[in-house]
Amino acid sequence: MLTSGKTKFFLGYEIFKDFITFLNSLAFLKGMPAPRLRSRSLRRIFRKVPGNRVSLHYKKRKPPAARCGNCGAVLKGIPRELPFRMRSMAKTKKRPERPFGGILCSRCMRQKIIDKARQ
Ligand SMILES: [Zn+2]
Repeated sequence: MLTSGKTKFFLGYEIFKDFITFLNSLAFLKGMPAPRLRSRSLRRIFRKVPGNRVSLHYKKRKPPAARCGNCGAVLKGIPRELPFRMRSMAKTKKRPERPFGGILCSRCMRQKIIDKARQ
């Protein structure tokens, strides 16, 4: 960088620093990525690396979010991860610990219990 230490030389120095960081983050545009990385089948991740740099990483896309079996709402508390990562995860981290956890959303679960009690 231009400066050393924690001295601020002018007003808006922090903004200027952020701008330089942003320019550095665009450094990947200088080179053409390998042909296998040019398709959008892989997702792109801007990862901060040591030296105040940002590098572009390519990762496999995640599966879609789990949905409620009744209303189709996105289920909360369920990680959106690849199967190999889900396999090494604890059961309690994969779904909420309540009746129909990981199958129904909390609203549908409540309604189902109420319906069952009224039968
Ligand atoms: Zn639901």
